[in-house]
Amino acid sequence: MTERIVAADAGGEDRSLETTLRPVSLADDEFIGQPRVKRGLRLMIAAARQRGEPIDHILLAGPPGLGKTTLANIIATEMEGRLHVTSGPALERPGDLAATLSSMEPGEVLFIDEIHRLGKTVEEILYPAMEDFALDIVVGAGKPHARTYRLDLPRFTVVGATTRHGQLTPALSDRFGESFRLDFYSPDECAQIVLRSARILGVEVVPAGAAAIARRARGTARVCNRLLRRVRDFAEVEADGVVTKAVANQALEDMGVDPEGLDSMDRRILTTIIESYVGGPVGLQSLAATVAEEVTTLESHYEPYLLQAGFLARTSRGRVATPKAYEHLGFTRGDSGTQQGSLL
Ligand code: ADP
Repeated sequence: MTERIVAADAGGEDRSLETTLRPVSLADDEFIGQPRVKRGLRLMIAAARQRGEPIDHILLAGPPGLGKTTLANIIATEMEGRLHVTSGPALERPGDLAATLSSMEPGEVLFIDEIHRLGKTVEEILYPAMEDFALDIVVGAGKPHARTYRLDLPRFTVVGATTRHGQLTPALSDRFGESFRLDFYSPDECAQIVLRSARILGVEVVPAGAAAIARRARGTARVCNRLLRRVRDFAEVEADGVVTKAVANQALEDMGVDPEGLDSMDRRILTTIIESYVGGPVGLQSLAATVAEEVTTLESHYEPYLLQAGFLARTSRGRVATPKAYEHLGFTRGDSGTQQGSLL
């Protein structure tokens, strides 16, 4: 089944704006940052074009909102092929993938988001499709006269995206000619993303205003855009429409985004570890149950930034709140129940 992907946190208006703001090429003022990924992709695209062949299968790994879907779109545009979009959970049965694959034309790109969530039987259909451009169809499965027919597929490209590289089976990983890991954006890159989006939206943002948004955007392009839209609303209603540093800081404070970019759920996760588990270690399952959040959301949405920013550490026995988390939330270490500030 082929479908359009919808970001978990994007509503109708946000989704169409997200499309408007999506970079359309690998130019440095278009797709900001990620120099290693861009260098690798530019090379692959140029080489494939020179040979007149479809580009090799590509795996993109990294936390949500860093640009994986955007890159799949750019790859398809550069290769002048249509992009088919689907995801691991949407491909429930082997027949779903078989239907998608048999509708592909030569040189087209199949984007499979959350590819680590593909079921085993579906994944097995993908192996020969990626390796030999063939679809193995079993007729009469489970019966004594069952037969396998091989259907040739046109040469196409799979772009897989995953937030959990470690959960990919080695067999599937090996089928990708190249894999790239997207990094969190630096505050400077986030500021460039904010300024680029502001230009497209026609919002006046002064550099210090962009920097203020960037500092709280948790190194994530999607968050840069989301914060910019909310700050724009605030600037239009509460100020003269110009996003200055003061306007940005006030708007973000009103939204509950603290100076480190943590929102109320981030703070709840850290506070729970400190207060209920004496700072940790605590297993992910227990933590998820205590904060009433899905394990997968915790693992792929909240945890990567908390780890990267040094608020959380992962040990063999579970998650631990770091001294930086204690300090940021106003707790005294060793005195788990005492919070001096009131950040929640
Ligand atoms: P992912 O697929 O990794 O969750 P997306 O590709 O959907 O992330 O990116 C989310 C949004 O962030 C996009 O709509 C796009 O506007 C913006 N974005 C992502 N990467 C960049 C970038 N490098 N430069 C500018 N904007 C970006």
